[in-house]
Amino acid sequence: MSSGMPQDLLTDLGRVLVQGSLTDPAVKAQTATGPVVQILPEANVVKIGGQSMIDRGRKAVFPIIDEIVENLAHHQMIIGTGAGTRARHAYSVALDLGLPTGVLSVLGTFVSMQNARMMHFLLAKHGIPFIEPIQFPQLPLYLVERRGVIFFGMPPYTFWQQNPAAGRIPPHRTDTGSYLVSEVFAARSMIYIKDEDGLYTADPKKDRHAKFIPKATVAEIESMDLQDVVVERAVLDLMKNAQHRRQIRIINGLVPGNLTRALAGEDVGTLISAD
Ligand code: ADP
Ligand code: MG
Repeated sequence: MSSGMPQDLLTDLGRVLVQGSLTDPAVKAQTATGPVVQILPEANVVKIGGQSMIDRGRKAVFPIIDEIVENLAHHQMIIGTGAGTRARHAYSVALDLGLPTGVLSVLGTFVSMQNARMMHFLLAKHGIPFIEPIQFPQLPLYLVERRGVIFFGMPPYTFWQQNPAAGRIPPHRTDTGSYLVSEVFAARSMIYIKDEDGLYTADPKKDRHAKFIPKATVAEIESMDLQDVVVERAVLDLMKNAQHRRQIRIINGLVPGNLTRALAGEDVGTLISAD
């Protein structure tokens, strides 16, 4: 055998993968074996919006910090942060300077890190650490010991970020980075804290006739052909192939009690399902 490995050490799947092509659809189909391990099934991933929450300052942030603290006794939380207005400003300067998507992704990462740092200092006295991607191996210990961690929501692709179909804004931002964490760890829930009750037929800040949508599948949202949506479109795309996190919830963090209700599994905000 070309790999030099004795044939009988390999499973059937091992033989297929060692000898076959990883781009062959028949080989790929055979890797869908059995259930995928649920790594942190008790943890909830909670994303605090950048522009929608953190940029509003203490009026929006202090109550949500209090609500997080109240819920730590009952719920483990992996808390991601958005980037918001400062990232949009940085993007505009970088675009003006002719810089590519991968560089904009670097800038967005640092802004979401600024927000993660601020949330972390507010939660520090409760023993909640800020962790960078390199510290994710310690995440299980922090969750058991302290029940929560803060991370920056951007996926840490930096220069490796893909180009969008149109324009140069990184398509995978903090909604996507948070979602991917919930999927890989098979988290119990993915909750987005924003400043609207959930998904509407249009951006409610621009169209006062926009209608609230309490529940929708990704296919239904696609068929509605909405001009704009409340989460990054990449999240909806990624949900189609999700192994675990096939539902996400968007709630209004400006309404006290909504996070508590969402963590309790109550029907609050908009629930988006893969199917
Ligand atoms: P974040 O602060 O998490 O980055 P964004 O500001 O990017 O959140 O996205 C949330 C915003 O999306 C809402 O404040 C709302 O104004 C806007 N939005 C756009 N389209 C919709 C829609 N169809 N339904 C609800 N909100 C929408
Ligand atoms: Mg956003």
